[in-house]
Amino acid sequence: MNTEKKYFEKIAERGQLIVISGPSGVGKRTVIAEYMKEHPNAMKCTSVTTREPHPNEVDGKDYHFISHLEFERLIRSQQMLEYAYYNRNGYGTLRKAVEDAREAGRNVILSVDVTGAMKVRALCPDATLIFIMPPTWDELEERIKSRNTEHPDVIAERLMIAQEEILCAGQYDYILINDTIENTVRRLGQIIHGNRYSKSSMKKFLESYIESELHSELADEVLSL
Ligand code: 5GP
Repeated sequence: MNTEKKYFEKIAERGQLIVISGPSGVGKRTVIAEYMKEHPNAMKCTSVTTREPHPNEVDGKDYHFISHLEFERLIRSQQMLEYAYYNRNGYGTLRKAVEDAREAGRNVILSVDVTGAMKVRALCPDATLIFIMPPTWDELEERIKSRNTEHPDVIAERLMIAQEEILCAGQYDYILINDTIENTVRRLGQIIHGNRYSKSSMKKFLESYIESELHSELADEVLSL
């Protein structure tokens, strides 16, 4: 390939945006952490949150723990790609971190609630939305209760939100049942691999190709077919 065509490679190499949701306690974090071990080029985007850190959580790694005031400031200055309130706390994704990583060709993984996922879908139609389900409701209930890090009221609220979230699973592109971490990580890998050359991942590439190679201004029309 000659040098002036190199820019096509760059467009084609833009990283995917993978959005993962699932009820609290379903094991999203473990699945993502295990996937990242096998795929170091992927990036888990660290969210900001106003909730208090749990005892085993590390600032900057699990979340950026910030004040309500700082959260409001990030919203006002439009630095958030999306944000939502969950259990009276704010959670949000920093826009720049996602964009920079995707431009550098890294697949970006977001772990967000259902509201956040729907916002990302509206803003980034090429995002892939994956919902992780517990094999049974009883198992989920057990996992949430056994975490034992929170007040019973918070646990009850998490269970209620979990039910509401599962009822939204049909709005996602893929549904994974977390029977074992190993299986779920493997299936996640298959989805990401399979999406690499999907129409939505290649949209930017196709647009440039139609404009630059075919010298056609019909890119919008062709791609909306
Ligand atoms: P937790 O308090 O259990 O860490 O997270 C509560 C919920 O907030 C989970 O469903 C988690 O996926 C979601 N969450 C975490 N980060 C973000 C974020 O940046 N944006 C949104 N919308 N939800 C998030």
